[in-house]
Amino acid sequence: SGDSHVNKGETIFPSLPPLLTGHPEVHLRNGIMNASRLAAAHEPDAEKAFFVADLSQVYQQQQRWKTSLPEIQPFYAVKCNPDPYVIRLLAAMGAGFDCASNNEIAQVLRVGGIDASQIIFANPCKAVSFVRNAAKMGVDLMTFDNADELYKIKRAHPRARCVVRILTDDSKSLCAFGIKFGAPLTTVPGLLAKARELGLDVVGVSFHVGSGCYDPTVYSDAIARARRVFEMGKEAGYRFSLLDVGGGFEDALFEQAAAVLRTAIEQYFPDRREEGVKIIAEPGRFYVSKAFRLAANIIARRAPLGGASTSTAAADCNEIDTPIAMSPSQEEKEDISDKPAVMYYINDGVYGAFNCILFDHQVVHPYVLSMRGSFHISPSEPTHISSVWGPTCDSIDCVSKKTVLPAALQVGDWLGFDNMGAYTVCAASQFNGFEVSNVIYTTGGAGGFEVRSTLAAFAAAGQGMGV
Ligand code: PLP
Repeated sequence: SGDSHVNKGETIFPSLPPLLTGHPEVHLRNGIMNASRLAAAHEPDAEKAFFVADLSQVYQQQQRWKTSLPEIQPFYAVKCNPDPYVIRLLAAMGAGFDCASNNEIAQVLRVGGIDASQIIFANPCKAVSFVRNAAKMGVDLMTFDNADELYKIKRAHPRARCVVRILTDDSKSLCAFGIKFGAPLTTVPGLLAKARELGLDVVGVSFHVGSGCYDPTVYSDAIARARRVFEMGKEAGYRFSLLDVGGGFEDALFEQAAAVLRTAIEQYFPDRREEGVKIIAEPGRFYVSKAFRLAANIIARRAPLGGASTSTAAADCNEIDTPIAMSPSQEEKEDISDKPAVMYYINDGVYGAFNCILFDHQVVHPYVLSMRGSFHISPSEPTHISSVWGPTCDSIDCVSKKTVLPAALQVGDWLGFDNMGAYTVCAASQFNGFEVSNVIYTTGGAGGFEVRSTLAAFAAAGQGMGV
């Protein structure tokens, strides 16, 4: 996707100053945050890992969305990354919000100017107190996929606008939801009849093809199913006016998925405009994945005494894949040159930002941000195979089992990780007493090296660069 046309903070946000500059903690200078204040705040632990959020990326994704899916209003899935600036920016650009809990609703409503009508409570299995709270907050639009939910809604929010979430093929996604959510089509007529009997208003259909969908053709089948449910709605006496095509949009496949959706919508809902059918979606990762990068400091290293110049030295220091030290078989001997030579320990891990490795099936790729204070890493630096570990005392806390890093990398140097915006900071824990990494905001303008520039700004502000 083109990075070229929008990358300067000053040019992107001329109409949005109150969003960013109006906040007391945020100062923009040359498209990068004035880091000195933040640096001062960070002084006691200069090596603390941090995210850099490039809000211009979020803006660019919205431009892509509007270009490819102009008919569909995105309701950003807050669960993916409830960052307040992302929420503000998306709200200012006309997005609605998919919330799954009381707190997410409160968080969205705290951002000034967002109307409760711009929220869908897209959790089909809610606590009754949450339904009651939604009613209190004015959030009327909510999903259901079972009869018990209808009874709860009847009791706690009888004037809700209900959306039936249906089961679709999610076998082509990183995270399938079908085993937990979604009404099979055979159950829908019964559910609609029950809703009618209870006097509830059912206004439309939603589905989710699974998060991180790598086969966009599944959207077509999902739209076909939704059409059938619109017909079921008619038979039950409803006139549906909402089609919610869910989330699952992968950055690299977005234009493809959008084309599939446009074609399927045209095929199955040719009269949508005359019939007043509004189409919305619940994208999450599409908006934030690329916008956040993480900088983590190497806090410890396990290397063979006297350096780690050869990979074979790995056998002395690193038994990751051969936990029981016995005489190696011939096969194992051949494999030994492929073993990590050095283990690096960084200050964020799978209990923190890298929970995406466990929960979101992500594979992360570290790169060097700075080595001994320098940002210039020669491409001819000798390398060795390494492994990268998180800071906790648990051995599951492995960030990268095998990766190639410069042999000269030491404690105090910094590693960078891209695509860290989706399902990362939101699910980070403080296990073992390690804090969740802070976010530093930029509006681009650093030529794609925002993390490095931020690190440089920290250094210039006298924060130091770790050890
Ligand atoms: N909508 C619902 C109901 C979800 O559960 C999720 C993800 O868990 C999303 C939307 C966002 O999905 P994605 O981030 O893949 O776009």
